[in-house]
Amino acid sequence: MEVRDGIDPTEAILESPEDVLSTLSKEGKRRWLYPTPSKGKFYTQRLVVAWGLIALFVALPIIKIGGKPAVLLDIMHREFTFFGVTFYPTDSFVLLLFMVGVLLTVILATALLGRVWCGWGCPQTVYLEYVYRPIERLIEGPEHVRARRDQGPWSFDRLWRRSLRFGVYLVVSLALAHVFLAYFVGWADLSQWLTRSPLEHSGSFVVMAGTTALILFDFGYFREQMCTITCPYARMQSVLVDPDSMIVSYDPVRGEPRAKRGKKALAAEAAGTIPAKGDCIDCAACVRTCPTGIDIRQGLQMECIACTQCIDACDSIMDNIGKPRGLIRYTSENSLAGQRTRKFRPRTVIYTLLLVAVWTAFGFTLASRNSYDINVGRVVGTTYDQLNDGTITNRLRFRVRNQTGQSQSYTVRITDPANAELRIVGTMPIELEKGEMKRTEAFVLVPANEISNGVRSLTLEFDFSDGTTREANFTLLGPSTR
Ligand code: SF4
Ligand code: SF4
Repeated sequence: MEVRDGIDPTEAILESPEDVLSTLSKEGKRRWLYPTPSKGKFYTQRLVVAWGLIALFVALPIIKIGGKPAVLLDIMHREFTFFGVTFYPTDSFVLLLFMVGVLLTVILATALLGRVWCGWGCPQTVYLEYVYRPIERLIEGPEHVRARRDQGPWSFDRLWRRSLRFGVYLVVSLALAHVFLAYFVGWADLSQWLTRSPLEHSGSFVVMAGTTALILFDFGYFREQMCTITCPYARMQSVLVDPDSMIVSYDPVRGEPRAKRGKKALAAEAAGTIPAKGDCIDCAACVRTCPTGIDIRQGLQMECIACTQCIDACDSIMDNIGKPRGLIRYTSENSLAGQRTRKFRPRTVIYTLLLVAVWTAFGFTLASRNSYDINVGRVVGTTYDQLNDGTITNRLRFRVRNQTGQSQSYTVRITDPANAELRIVGTMPIELEKGEMKRTEAFVLVPANEISNGVRSLTLEFDFSDGTTREANFTLLGPSTR
């Protein structure tokens, strides 16, 4: 690493080893942050992404695909619908593949792009930076005004602004809680709740109130601590990120030795009349804008959510002082050290191969998934009986689940042996609501001479009202001699 003016830039950026948490004061109290937004290229791009994600979040439980909500996680009925496909508990393997696929995607994305999810897609960042903080700014004024007011005594001005802010927060949190719950109960049920008295659905009312309170607490008070203290993903960074991963980073080679100075001093440096220092003018704009309260110049930190605000802040400073942009930029540790950034490295190749394998298996399993889940078994504790005329009877049970998303009915008959008789306990056709699983018992009667060595295979045919025909096999038991 280059050394300027006899100062090792790596050493120069190491400060205050006792500073362990950016949101704690030295007395151990919460240090309230007032990050100043930095408008720039990345801020605008993130704004577009954020509002696109908010629109998607609101739309997914409302819009319908194939007559079903795009996403519905109906835990009560154990049905999970994603983009028109409903999964049931019997689909646990497909769901497992799906979850492993999502996990591997996150791992690969982090290995390549660092905490891109935290900065661009995480709801914590999206709602805090693009909904709650703008409301705060609108009602309570810019950051320096808020900080000054908060440090002073309670006044009428402070009281009404704070009350109005939390009033608006409450409305927004209530709306978010409703959308959130729509993912679990469906928009139709939720609309009904809205028009009825809370006493008629007190349980759901409590859930709604609790969810609203949690959202309000998180975005109104807890804020960046969700990322710096609570989120497990941040803790996994040290194993997911490597020196080739893209991170938001300050370039100490270019920036150090930093020194506060104005345009006059910079012009003198450019003219060579005074010794040149690093490009960092120690203006602290990158620190003031950071939503987690860290100084990016101290190197890669767990608290950095890669929100790019310090890039925008520093780029605008560089524009002002006539230096090239990118003192803080998306880069890799290897690139900062003057080495090549490798996209293809053993871990990313292995992750990619695993990812392709898992998503392929998921697609294949999904495509070959049946509309009906049929299970034929023996009634527990039974073998066979022999009637007075020698006929052998076996007692079976069918468990059939309708996975078509529509109400259906079915009949069942024996196709082999042809002389066997099926006696259903109940009536046919058997009705099945969408997603319903029904258990039906039946007796199979076969002449004794059909049984050979104590067993005989049985073939059943299930005929469904949508025209689907499915076969199932079963082994009949009988006496072991003919
Ligand atoms: S914004 Fe740029 S110039 Fe200002 S302190 Fe941060 S890194 Fe240095
Ligand atoms: S250091 Fe920069 S990228 Fe990281 S959280 Fe702070 S402002 Fe965002």
